[in-house]
Amino acid sequence: MTQTFHEETIEGNKGFWTIFPGLCKGCGLCIQKCPKKCMSWSDVLGVYGTPSVEINNEECIACGACQMFCPDCAIAVERKKKEEKH
Ligand code: SF4
Ligand code: SF4
Repeated sequence: MTQTFHEETIEGNKGFWTIFPGLCKGCGLCIQKCPKKCMSWSDVLGVYGTPSVEINNEECIACGACQMFCPDCAIAVERKKKEEKH
């Protein structure tokens, strides 16, 4: 049997935030560590049937703290490149 990971990417003002629910164990560490307090539990279930997480894309600053603290690498954050100045 194979397990597929359906990731979901949310575009925020500052970057792209991706959750891999198949890796999320619902520990809540990311929610605790987010400096903007813009993370919450999601309706999508994680690997153990507990809620995974989502973000408020208007408030996320793409700082990467959630990615850094997640013990299971269930989050990936990619900052948008700064617009080139002319
Ligand atoms: S990237 Fe930073 S601001 Fe955005 S959800 Fe993660 S911890 Fe919060
Ligand atoms: S820190 Fe990782 S495993 Fe824990 S709730 Fe957040 S995304 Fe899920």
